[in-house]
Amino acid sequence: MTEDAIRNALSVVRYPGFSRDIISFGLVKSISIKNGVVAVGIEIQTRDPKVPEQIFKDCHEALDEMAGASENVQVTINIEDPPGAPSTPGGVGGKQSIPGVKRVIAIASGKGGVGKSTVSANLAVSLSKQGLKVGLCDCDLYGPSIAHMFGATDQQPRADSRERIIPIEAHGIKLMSMGFLLGDDAPVIVRGPLATRYTQQFLKEVAWGELDVLVLDLPPGTGDIQLTIVQTIALDGAVVVTTPQEVALIDARKAISMFAKVNVGILGLIENMSWFECEHGTRYHLFGKGGGQREAELMGVPLLAQIPIDPGTRERCDEGEPVALLDPVKSPISAAFRQAAEALPVPSG
Ligand code: ADP
Repeated sequence: MTEDAIRNALSVVRYPGFSRDIISFGLVKSISIKNGVVAVGIEIQTRDPKVPEQIFKDCHEALDEMAGASENVQVTINIEDPPGAPSTPGGVGGKQSIPGVKRVIAIASGKGGVGKSTVSANLAVSLSKQGLKVGLCDCDLYGPSIAHMFGATDQQPRADSRERIIPIEAHGIKLMSMGFLLGDDAPVIVRGPLATRYTQQFLKEVAWGELDVLVLDLPPGTGDIQLTIVQTIALDGAVVVTTPQEVALIDARKAISMFAKVNVGILGLIENMSWFECEHGTRYHLFGKGGGQREAELMGVPLLAQIPIDPGTRERCDEGEPVALLDPVKSPISAAFRQAAEALPVPSG
């Protein structure tokens, strides 16, 4: 039995609800072996008692056989409260976690390519049209697209006198994106601890000023960046974006349960690419029908909107003019985003 062998054995123990393990998350703070007894010290931030219980059980499962008996394995878990007040399902914690920012709402998805960034951009625009001061932060280090969707890829953010990054402004929204820092072609090779550090810097060292709401466009999935975000700042809730077909819904379910594990309330589900309407008004449900509604009912969360497949929506995104900028009376898609934005718990403008 060596320290390396123990570390190796513990690398199969997942953080409940996430795809990453407790070793690569850096949660195992100490390992010692004395007289055949293995002692493992773990530190986690959670308010959910089931999380340490599960980790405790899984650590024993991984180590007992190697150590010869359960008595030879001591797992000590130090539990701290995550930052900010706990959110309640569909409700808000209400604590300011970023100075000057009243509400922070995360937009998440289980899978890539379901339209999460499109939804983030358009919700931010709809919230801004309600008269709110809105920020939008692209946390997707590996595929930032928000700068592109706001036609701001050629802009470079500057630093203020306190060395904080000043967000770019487009369509009245303050934007921060890895895309601004990397440019289009830069290889994105940040992984693991470096990704965690970038994300923390992103969240803490941007001079947002006074904002009514900050929308966070999370990367897809349930990995280390998501965990870093929920441990760094208090989220007021999360919106999960999915397409109607089962494979996307399975992953959306994983995202929902990840947020439940870290006590972040799900504000609702948005079903994107719900149907395509041809010029004669016939609707084709290319990815299946009603999946989002069924899932929302199953998970006990509201379905905030159904957004059809619309070539114009994609074109406007590519041109840096999100569709929600259009008059909702003339554009049903802009109206759908407005309706979803109105259902979010944000302060009045
Ligand atoms: P994600 O952030 O989930 O990876 P994106 O928002 O980048 O997804 O969307 C992926 C692609 O699909 C983009 O080209 C986007 O313009 C397009 N798209 C997203 N939603 C729609 C929609 N409702 N209708 C048409 N195209 C869409």
